[in-house]
Amino acid sequence: MRKPTDMCLLCQKKPSDKKNSQVIPKFFGKGLFDGTKPRHGIQISRNGVSSKVQDIIKENYILCSECEKGLSIFETYCTFRLERFNNILYHKQYKRFKRVEFQYFECNNLDIRIFNLFIYSIVWRISISEHNAFQKFQLPIVEEEKLRKVIKDNISKTQNELIDNLGNFSFLPDHSHAMIRPSKKLRPPNSMLSTASLDESIHQLHLVDYLIFYATDKEKLISNFNEINNNTIDRKVRIGLIDSKLWSEFNLGLMYNLWK
Ligand SMILES: [Zn+2]
Repeated sequence: MRKPTDMCLLCQKKPSDKKNSQVIPKFFGKGLFDGTKPRHGIQISRNGVSSKVQDIIKENYILCSECEKGLSIFETYCTFRLERFNNILYHKQYKRFKRVEFQYFECNNLDIRIFNLFIYSIVWRISISEHNAFQKFQLPIVEEEKLRKVIKDNISKTQNELIDNLGNFSFLPDHSHAMIRPSKKLRPPNSMLSTASLDESIHQLHLVDYLIFYATDKEKLISNFNEINNNTIDRKVRIGLIDSKLWSEFNLGLMYNLWK
């Protein structure tokens, strides 16, 4: 068990005084509790025992308050801009592209450098987490350290400071990642929150309405996703869209595999 006197795992300079750090940003977990009264979700432990939970998974004493605040700035900036895709009033901020196998949209007002920091911070936090729910997810230590460094070097105290300093952001870990979501958000979501490393270099984060494929060996991303690989700073963020029916079937398949 970690103690408040242990060092923050991100800056490694200050005591990890922060209690109740969210391992996965609240934004992703919200949909899990939709339509349940009283609000609850089902958490499945490693031995298959399910229990009701009232809130998304939290962990004590992994970060200092300053680092926690810095990560929440990435989160606030990105989640707003991702979520507005569902709002017709903002349709001009997104451009849709159609390909044979899939579709995607580009976000006009989402800076891809901040988006990358946001994705790295989620992947890093899950990888360092000691919580039972994330035991199947682990990056190789060398890759985990690359993420820690890039996050630490770009973390800021305010959103303005973050934007002002983006010019210094040039180093990207040699990874690749793609994010997909259903073309229309489903409610109830018919999906879940689960993360797993399929092998040393392929990692999957299933975050209710979004699915992230993360490859610590950049060549290992499924080739269909190369066009929406966001591990770059040269273009706009691209989010893959899949048909809602396919999305439901895919989720059911995942849940079936978990229970069998
Ligand atoms: Zn810190």
